[in-house]
Amino acid sequence: MRYDVAIIGSGPAAISAALTLKLHNKSIIWFGSKNLSPKVERSEMIANYPGVKMVTGTELNRLYREQIEDAGLEIEERQVTNISSSRRGFMVLGGNDIYDAKTVLLALGSTSPKGFPGEAELLGHGVSYCATCDGFLYPGRTIAIFCGSKEFEHEVNYLAEIAAKVYLFTSCGEPSVSRENIEVNPGKLKTIQGEEKVTAIELTDGTTVPVDGVFVLRPAVAPGMLVKGLELNGADIVVDRRMATNKPGVFAAGDCTGRPYQLAKAVGEGNIAAHSIVEYLAEKEKQ
Ligand SMILES: Cc1cc2nc3c(=O)[nH]c(=O)nc-3n(C[C@H](O)[C@H](O)[C@H](O)COP(=O)(O)OP(=O)(O)OC[C@H]3O[C@@H](n4cnc5c(N)ncnc54)[C@H](O)[C@@H]3O)c2cc1C
Repeated sequence: MRYDVAIIGSGPAAISAALTLKLHNKSIIWFGSKNLSPKVERSEMIANYPGVKMVTGTELNRLYREQIEDAGLEIEERQVTNISSSRRGFMVLGGNDIYDAKTVLLALGSTSPKGFPGEAELLGHGVSYCATCDGFLYPGRTIAIFCGSKEFEHEVNYLAEIAAKVYLFTSCGEPSVSRENIEVNPGKLKTIQGEEKVTAIELTDGTTVPVDGVFVLRPAVAPGMLVKGLELNGADIVVDRRMATNKPGVFAAGDCTGRPYQLAKAVGEGNIAAHSIVEYLAEKEKQ
């Protein structure tokens, strides 16, 4: 199936866009978390969101969930790790599956500004974001894993079952994985090295360790890594007043387009993006 729009992210910007796109009868594939937005969930009290007086983040998330359900919208609990242009639109890699969409809305929230030096250049050439997609390439080989969240520890285990040796780096405390072939490294990963393919990693203490591949497992993928050639200003996605990016058919809304990081801005931008997507699809249909 080819969807009218693929929405990436499940915070207020994405919710606002999804509700409007649904009213316009657009077919939507929506990726994110059933818990919607960790940021909203963490907000103790919100006092500047019209229509709901003082509200806790937990309560607002609950209201969002109810509204999504009432609208008959569904979220695929998958992380999107790559979006590439195709002849008819876009191919979106969500989890291990590829989805076709005519347009894309990036509503990613604010993401980490950049990856490790060498990460973007060697992505697909030994650098991978997806254990299940690429793990099979490393039987009996040596790999490094950067694990940015406890939620990915099962993927570390999975990779350690395939590879001969795993150098593990974490940014989330002591890992609870333990296999003989996993070496938890207390040092920090600095760069990923290689010309046409990954050959080694460099640590912050200057040590170089030869490896065949590097898995980078983070809860968020920087926008520039997600969509090749996307124009950025620092970490922010550059958009025009229609929330259109420099890539025709790709729109962005919410914290990922820059400050102020506020609910009302995210919701407003999501709404504008939805209308722009409807117009874009109508234009395309005429052609
Ligand atoms: C503690 C705290 C208090 C706050 N208080 C207020 C306040 O009082 N008033 C106010 O206006 N604002 C407040 N904010 C800011 C507000 O929460 C944000 O501006 C708002 O949530 C931004 O919405 P968003 O949709 O852009 O992104 P987010 O809410 O960050 O949602 C993005 C979602 O997309 C998901 N995602 C990202 N990348 C991918 C991917 N590749 N694949 C699948 N899913 C992905 C993320 O996991 C996340 O669930 C507060 C924020 C915090 C942290």
